Amino acid sequence: MIDQYGRNINYLRLSVTERCTLRCVYCRADEGICPKAAELSCADFLRIARVCVDLGIRRIRVTGGEPLLRKDILEIVGGLGQIEELVDLTMTTNAQYLAEHAEGLKKAGLKRINISLDSLREDRYRQITGGELKNVLEGIDAAVNADLLPIKINVVLVRGVNDDEVDDFIALTRDNPLDVRMIELMPVGVLGQDESLRINNDELIAARPYLQPVAPSYSGQPSRDYKITGHQGRVGFISPISHSFCADCNRIRVMSDGMLRPCLGNNAEISLKPALQEGDDALLEVIRSTIFNKPMRHHFEKGFSSEKSMLKIGG
Ligand code: SAM
Repeated sequence: MIDQYGRNINYLRLSVTERCTLRCVYCRADEGICPKAAELSCADFLRIARVCVDLGIRRIRVTGGEPLLRKDILEIVGGLGQIEELVDLTMTTNAQYLAEHAEGLKKAGLKRINISLDSLREDRYRQITGGELKNVLEGIDAAVNADLLPIKINVVLVRGVNDDEVDDFIALTRDNPLDVRMIELMPVGVLGQDESLRINNDELIAARPYLQPVAPSYSGQPSRDYKITGHQGRVGFISPISHSFCADCNRIRVMSDGMLRPCLGNNAEISLKPALQEGDDALLEVIRSTIFNKPMRHHFEKGFSSEKSMLKIGG
């Protein structure tokens, strides 16, 4: 549906849990997370998704927390996979458990997958996330074998932590069917407020004149994409701070505690729980009016800081 600023809101992110096994230095939640028992049920998520699709949502991303921690994740993806109107159904995962799930997710209807990977060095990966790089690499192989393509590797760059690995990540696109995207650190979560840690993507692009700009894969895509001659994958830059894409923003978020958040960079949220009790007409009305009133833009550059980490909001 079209919001008050004329944007076509057609993309829903469902954060199905705030639980995560990783403790990424810039993302871990210092505040209490939504306990498992208070998370929306699979049936609630599917009802919300159905209503959102009736309002014009055509793409859904399942995220978290770590979505693969939900025991009913195949049921959730399977239910979403049966919504015929959807043109895209994807997931963002840290891939710690992807190797065992990739095939099942594909069969359940997942079309493609994004994988978060902030370092290609075993020790550093462990330091940044507390997880094991080996699991991620096995997860990527499993996703390729399950045809969850194109696979996007998301890298959040933190100055002095992993910014010396940009070219190693770009090299991954040479022989692998992987698109790599560099994401600017946002003022969300524990480290994101420190501007000195943020790398402006323009710096990275300017230093690599061999990157050739290519058209976005779909309209409303947040990344600016580039290719290197002879490489299989693309290199993308997601720059919410240096190049805000609010004018084209097409998304809303529903979180595992039932809150609907129309803008990542604005703390306003509304609970869907009362409407879930009331019925689908009430649910449709609250989602419709929240979409219509979606804020015009975020104010990351004006000292905004999110009261919640990305773990809770769903990246
Ligand atoms: N557990 C899943 C994962 O790791 O992909 C999904 C949730 S995670 C919160 C989603 C993405 O948000 C990850 O790629 C993470 O790096 C990113 N993220 C978290 N905090 C961020 C921040 N302050 N700025 C930019 N990206 C952030």
